[in-house]
Amino acid sequence: MARVVVVSNRVAVPNRDGTRAGGLEVVIGSYLKRNQGIWFGWSGRTVAKGEEVTRKVEHAGVTYITTDLLRADFQEYYNGFANRMLWPILHYRLDLAEFSSRDMAGYLRVNELFADRLKPFLKPDDVLWVHDYHLLPLGKALRERGVENKIGFFLHIPFPPPDMLTCLPKHERTILSLCHYDLVGFQTNNDADNLADYLSHECRMPSRDRRTFIAGSRTLRIGVFPVGVEMAEFERLARRTKRTAVVREVLNSLSERSMIIGVDRLDYSKGLGLRVRAFEQFLGTYPRWRGAVTYLQITPRSRSEIREYADMERRIDETVGRVNGRYGEASWTPIRYVNRPYSRTTLAGLYRSSRAALVTPLRDGMNLVAKEYIAAQDPEDPGVLILSRFAGAAVECQAALLVNPYDQEAVAAAIDQALSMPLDERCGRHSALVKVLSENDIKDWGPRFVAALTNPAEAKRWSRRASG
Ligand code: ADP
Repeated sequence: MARVVVVSNRVAVPNRDGTRAGGLEVVIGSYLKRNQGIWFGWSGRTVAKGEEVTRKVEHAGVTYITTDLLRADFQEYYNGFANRMLWPILHYRLDLAEFSSRDMAGYLRVNELFADRLKPFLKPDDVLWVHDYHLLPLGKALRERGVENKIGFFLHIPFPPPDMLTCLPKHERTILSLCHYDLVGFQTNNDADNLADYLSHECRMPSRDRRTFIAGSRTLRIGVFPVGVEMAEFERLARRTKRTAVVREVLNSLSERSMIIGVDRLDYSKGLGLRVRAFEQFLGTYPRWRGAVTYLQITPRSRSEIREYADMERRIDETVGRVNGRYGEASWTPIRYVNRPYSRTTLAGLYRSSRAALVTPLRDGMNLVAKEYIAAQDPEDPGVLILSRFAGAAVECQAALLVNPYDQEAVAAAIDQALSMPLDERCGRHSALVKVLSENDIKDWGPRFVAALTNPAEAKRWSRRASG
């Protein structure tokens, strides 16, 4: 079997930076743990000119190669173009996008630099798998350096319709560069259709069918590969950790109250402000739950150096404070809001101890928290998932309580419905969800993508399955 070289902005080098939050590292780590290969990306260090180092570490059969970035490059590539332009546009937030041609130049430059530093490690029959919006043009940069290997790309976040993509200035430089890959994978059919529409309507690119385009001498295939979670392992973990001291301490502190849980990075795509207001509305409209339920929102801060994130942090702090001031009592705090990361193990135990989960992003590529919550439940007494219809996970999680996160009244009603739901309905919904999610366990995700990349017939088969 060919060696797989995974490339992503961040590399989770073992034993380096402790607890992390972020779906991408969790899923790539899980793939490489089983399939070995190389993981290449940024070292997490920014340095002055002349101090850049590329390091290689071997651990449990995986080779981790990381490279430093210059401070200015990092600023333009990561904080600038990737997170102030691509992230908002790809999450349908044109209002938050800030374009600067300088940032775009930095973004293209870092992609070329990644190509330069990666190329010496490549062997002719390696298969390359590039991840996420930081590296859209990496395939093109590698092709320009004569790399003819199979190269696939997977986008973990949403991909909007052409009307939004074309708001990105010079979109051909970034979006159209996807044509240099052999296979581009998305979380949902909706995302895949949006690329197909962009290529056929905006770029008039010839195609063989809805998922196969002819880009000069190259054929680009588009596929759907929804990211999943390790269902059985997560259930076992949750069962074990519900008994640990940390989780027991949280449960004791609730004094028999029901718990609702939310776990998200602090990001505007997660809809936290609207969610807290929906919870406020729930307490106002359904007063019988006052004093009987506690909402625990675990939200590690992210990207605080970007202004929109710092502003959002402040607004959410204020809203939580207002709700607690308005409805709280000396003996009861309605919302517990914590900004630190927790270990995966503790999260699993907390999910299992919660009567409901509020997962209400305004837009999300997949949302692993939703799937982890389902995996963690006790099948004999499961909690209820309240899930935004705009999360990629909603395609598979039709048996959850699906909500429109912009409709606070509907979210408030869903919280009431979740807390009042009889056991047989909870069990019915839960087993339906477990059945669907177990068919798409994360163990199969990487091999499925790599097989599709190396064997085109596979891509079609999986796309048909994912479209249900
Ligand atoms: P995103 O990738 O946008 O952050 P996902 O829901 O897809 O969102 O993935 C988040 C991942 O990070 C999940 O695996 C989740 O368990 C983990 N995570 C989220 N919040 C925390 C936290 N507070 N502590 C530890 N892990 C977290």
